[in-house]
Amino acid sequence: MPSSQLCTTTCPYCGVGCGIDVNRADSGSKLSGLTGQSDHPANFGRLCVKGSHLLDTLGASNRMLHPHVNGNHVSWTEAIVSAAAGFRRAIDEYGPDSVAFYVSGQLLTEDYYVANKLMKGFIGSANIDTNSRLCMSSAVAAYKRAFGADAVPCNYEDLETTDFLVITGSNAAWTHPVLFQRIDRAKKKNPNLRIIVIDPRRTQTSEIADQHLAIKPGSDAALFLGLTNFIASHDAIDAEYVEKYTQGIEDTLSSAEMYSLNYVSQYCGVDKSELAEFYRGFTQARTAVTFYSMGINQSTSGVDKANAIINCHLATGKIGKPGCGPFSITGQPNAMGGREVGGLANMLAAHMDINNSEHRTLVKTFWQSPTIARSHGLKAVDLFDAIEAGKIKAVWIMATNPVVSMPNRNKIESALRKCPLVVVSDVVSNNDTLNYADIAFPATGWSEKDGTVTNSERRISRQRGLLPATGEARHDWQIICDVAKAMGYQDGFNFSTSAEIFDEHANLSAYQNNGTRDFDLSGLCGLSEEKYNLLKPIQWPVNQNNPEGTARLFLDGKFFTSSGKAQFIAIQARPAEQTTTSQYPWVLNTGRIRDQWHTMTRTSQSKQLNQHIDEPFLAMNPEDMAKELLAEGQLVCLASAQTQRDCAEHSNQVVLRVQADSGLRQGQCFAPIHWSKTNSSAASIAPLFSSANDPISGQPELKHAAVAINALSYRSYAQVFCKAPLPEHFLKNLSYWCVTTFENGLHYRIASSHSLIELIAAMQPLIMVDAEVMQRGDARTHQLSVFLKQQLVFALFAHDHKGSLNRPHYSEVSSEWLSHLFSLNSVDEEQQASLLRINPDDAFTLGKVVCSCFKVREKTIVEAINSDCQSVEALGQKLQCGTNCGSCKTELNVLIKERKQQQLRSLQSIDITIQESPNEAVQP
Ligand code: SF4
Repeated sequence: MPSSQLCTTTCPYCGVGCGIDVNRADSGSKLSGLTGQSDHPANFGRLCVKGSHLLDTLGASNRMLHPHVNGNHVSWTEAIVSAAAGFRRAIDEYGPDSVAFYVSGQLLTEDYYVANKLMKGFIGSANIDTNSRLCMSSAVAAYKRAFGADAVPCNYEDLETTDFLVITGSNAAWTHPVLFQRIDRAKKKNPNLRIIVIDPRRTQTSEIADQHLAIKPGSDAALFLGLTNFIASHDAIDAEYVEKYTQGIEDTLSSAEMYSLNYVSQYCGVDKSELAEFYRGFTQARTAVTFYSMGINQSTSGVDKANAIINCHLATGKIGKPGCGPFSITGQPNAMGGREVGGLANMLAAHMDINNSEHRTLVKTFWQSPTIARSHGLKAVDLFDAIEAGKIKAVWIMATNPVVSMPNRNKIESALRKCPLVVVSDVVSNNDTLNYADIAFPATGWSEKDGTVTNSERRISRQRGLLPATGEARHDWQIICDVAKAMGYQDGFNFSTSAEIFDEHANLSAYQNNGTRDFDLSGLCGLSEEKYNLLKPIQWPVNQNNPEGTARLFLDGKFFTSSGKAQFIAIQARPAEQTTTSQYPWVLNTGRIRDQWHTMTRTSQSKQLNQHIDEPFLAMNPEDMAKELLAEGQLVCLASAQTQRDCAEHSNQVVLRVQADSGLRQGQCFAPIHWSKTNSSAASIAPLFSSANDPISGQPELKHAAVAINALSYRSYAQVFCKAPLPEHFLKNLSYWCVTTFENGLHYRIASSHSLIELIAAMQPLIMVDAEVMQRGDARTHQLSVFLKQQLVFALFAHDHKGSLNRPHYSEVSSEWLSHLFSLNSVDEEQQASLLRINPDDAFTLGKVVCSCFKVREKTIVEAINSDCQSVEALGQKLQCGTNCGSCKTELNVLIKERKQQQLRSLQSIDITIQESPNEAVQP
């Protein structure tokens, strides 16, 4: 018997959908290593840093192990019966629309399929929506308006083979790193490939751009309307394509007429010549792809923005051929799978239309269901509003953390507090949403779940169950089917494997299809369990004409509209709804950081992923900081009209540490979305956003809030390194705290309105009685180390308000140094002294981790650049950085560029000095 076995599966994080080879060891009880799957067409062997560290996130430490009702550990039967009875009661008393499911792009297609079937076909309501509403629902609505179906025309190869790539509303280098690396490689192979990055911020993605257009936030629609106008006025319309395959160009051209270079230049805040260069490039290029993501979608005019992009491709015929097309990239691993099964409240299963009575009859007949939802259900924002208003009496939240990810956090919390029954299925034992659960179901996680996912290019891949479930966890589809059966819907949910569900899903897509609907898996109907298990990645549609799948759509110019022609959509640019005022003058943009995923419930389990950026922050332009008298590292409070409205009732403050970022335009700031109340006192930014959302897609405006920034000053500050979490009663008395895990413990950063002496006094009860304590301090600072049998178990570095601006002093307290000391069985006298003096060995003062894979720190890299490494490749050869997942390559490039600029500046200053001192210059 082999002791280990190579298995293939898929990454559970972003919409790239990378294939992974995993080594399963010890007779299938553990996973001992993973690499990118070399023949998976999404990644061809590459993985980013998050995917590479997936194995760090396994284990039982933060898992929910048992079902709970009202906080009590109960049997599965009791939990299922309680949930079913709760839903049944609400339906019997208030009707089917009194219940709702809020699901997730983290679910597998099979989970999603049965959830949708239960709600729409058996309960008879369409109140099932998903966190994908926050991710790409605007892109879906725009595709449907233009093509008659939610059909992504392109594939990843098009990103490499195109002549002209526009990346807009995406920091792909950090959010979709493997795609970014594919683009980077294509650019190196083909220097003629022009890349335009459109983003208000200069991000890591801008590093490969030939042109970066730093437009004003939210002005994307005007930019693309300007392009439409430019196409028309420069005789660049593909008249033959437009005539044969499209409708409605006249209105679109009229609506774009006013978007002259002058007008757009003012609207977007971009120089006319820069605009003209972009517009000329797009119109003259033989092929062009526009890659867009949340920066376009998360807007009150997200659908219009996406249609403005699609219009440009239709007008120039840059669609339906290799290297061409409007390409929406999904954030989540299975956002696309959710779309396939109708996981959004305004869709039916298998891309059928809920407003179409024939489709409703077809689905009901196929399911043999007692009923079928007759109209749209509530989209995410409206759904939580309805809970708040008391209209929804029971909600089931699956695999998502809406308290952190939805806008208007106070309202979401208030809704869940009021809701008579909140059921939550999750992998983890603790997150901000679980605090409100009456019933909690433990679900299987990555490596245990078994089913399929579909990535951004319509490619279905198997995510395989490799390990047994942890604790009593069950698959989501099993939990849903059990609840359905307990509600009396025995017949529709008698599945015993995910393969059976996939087969029904494929059969529904084929049912009375005959080429009339885009989503068609007829070629995958009747797969045996074995064939399903062996299923290779394949792009839908898979049918008689395309048995090996379909790389690109619309090659024949036929669309899924009633006329068979693509539709131009005439739009106008609209400003964001959460606009700045004198009271809230800053535009807050949001996004993700390189090494974390969503609300960090999984990625924060990896100590290595926590090293890249280990504290929430607010990035600001350095000149703005200077004007506001804000120092790097200072804590600030953010407020918005929303928090102002909520302040009487709620206390969800937002407090972040300021960080200079010259990539931001003045007047703008940026904060990451990841932190929550689970790991910080006040870094969840969701309270700042109102419920403003797109009128068509319902996608919330999460990229544009108007905020006030106020400097905070506390009386004492500290960093605490410890083995066990600090008790809640202690944290509650602090003004600010955030925590991250490092190799051998936990690292807290705290601020308090109490004096330094009071803070130290409050710490005393945390110290074990039999411990040895060493302290050193003065009126301003205090260091304290606690040892148990010579082992370091607790270390505190505190200072008063004057020390708060003295950042270099505290930046020397690296978690790597403390991790090393925590790992020792015995800390010697010299090390004890160095702790009290904050005097680490040089090896631990090397700055932040840039390469998470090989733990290479900033100062080491800068030293290598200063010696002889002038390229990323040279750095890789010398230090290994960037040679594994490659996620840090853009940061390495930035360091090289910065160093070169510094050298140039010092040369120039020497030159100036020489010119100013001619006498000295000519001296022999
Ligand atoms: Fe996972 Fe990274 Fe691939 Fe996204 S790019 S699927 S996070 S490995």
